[in-house]
Amino acid sequence: MSYVRKIQLLSHFEKPILSKVLSDCPARILIVDDKPDNLELLSTVLTVQGYQTKTCERGKSAIELAKTDVPNLILLDISMPEMDGFSVCEILKKDFITKDIPIIFISALKDVRDKTLAFQIGGSDYITKPFQVDEVIARVKNQLNIHYLQAELRAKNKQLETEIKHRQAAENELLRLNRKLNKLATVDRLTGIANRHYLDEFLIKEWQRGKREKFSLALILCDIDYFKQYNDRFGHLEGDVCLQQVAQAIVKAVNRPADLVARYGGEEFAIVLPQTSAENAILVAEKIRLQIQDLRIPHPDSLVRDDVSLSLGVTAVIPGSKYTKKQLLITADKALYQAKKQGRNCAILSPMA
Ligand SMILES: [Mg+2]
Repeated sequence: MSYVRKIQLLSHFEKPILSKVLSDCPARILIVDDKPDNLELLSTVLTVQGYQTKTCERGKSAIELAKTDVPNLILLDISMPEMDGFSVCEILKKDFITKDIPIIFISALKDVRDKTLAFQIGGSDYITKPFQVDEVIARVKNQLNIHYLQAELRAKNKQLETEIKHRQAAENELLRLNRKLNKLATVDRLTGIANRHYLDEFLIKEWQRGKREKFSLALILCDIDYFKQYNDRFGHLEGDVCLQQVAQAIVKAVNRPADLVARYGGEEFAIVLPQTSAENAILVAEKIRLQIQDLRIPHPDSLVRDDVSLSLGVTAVIPGSKYTKKQLLITADKALYQAKKQGRNCAILSPMA
């Protein structure tokens, strides 16, 4: 068939409508057939449709071509000398480089068994000779669309996997920063014990719990005796070291995990003791007082002793509607005032009014 005759034939077909993908980058099609006439016809039809075509008359060279210049689609004749289309297909489907290329078989055979085998060994479609040119175009378009959609799906899945990994990493980093931030928000930077903000939250929680479970909640407020004089003599840096030592000594004396030691203000500390009676709270306060004394931090300007000491105010109550959390703090503060008034370096218990 002459080229002119082919063009006359082709003029009957609709103008090629190319998908965006095809117009951006024309699909490459490898046509394999042992009949040069078939190759020429198919190549012309598909080239006019905007595809790039390569032709090949033998199975072995088709395999080589498919590996070196991977096409987007293969039209593969079944009946060929030396190596038939089925064998070519089997080899291509086993190769990592060529396994995903869609293959459309071409054959004059009308045997159902051949068609079944074609699909079993990995063929995507089947065209019978003689060609209906518009059928060839439709089937090629269809296979390419499926091929592109599959590739797009694979790419999107991969992108999604990467995005998920990045998001997980970002979430972990956020969690880590949040934990750090929470710690910073609840810890007193100088002494490393809980800060005033955390104390307030803790007291609210324990007050509610005490109310529910009807247990006694105890609070100790304490203050370093003559701390202003200590700072005046040794300077603020030494004063800070003293605060750190006192804080750690209090933590050591208060050893139940449910208890809380917090910095209340300058040289003042607060100790919250859930499920603790007034009698037991005063014992804890006394233990703290002795622990500070044992530190033997020299304080020549103290009017009580020649080393650092603590005054402590203690109170305890079963939280109920009769009292408020604020009253608990006021009462402990009053007790602390009494302790100072009574000569410091002592613990005073004051009941809730
Ligand atoms: Mg043939």
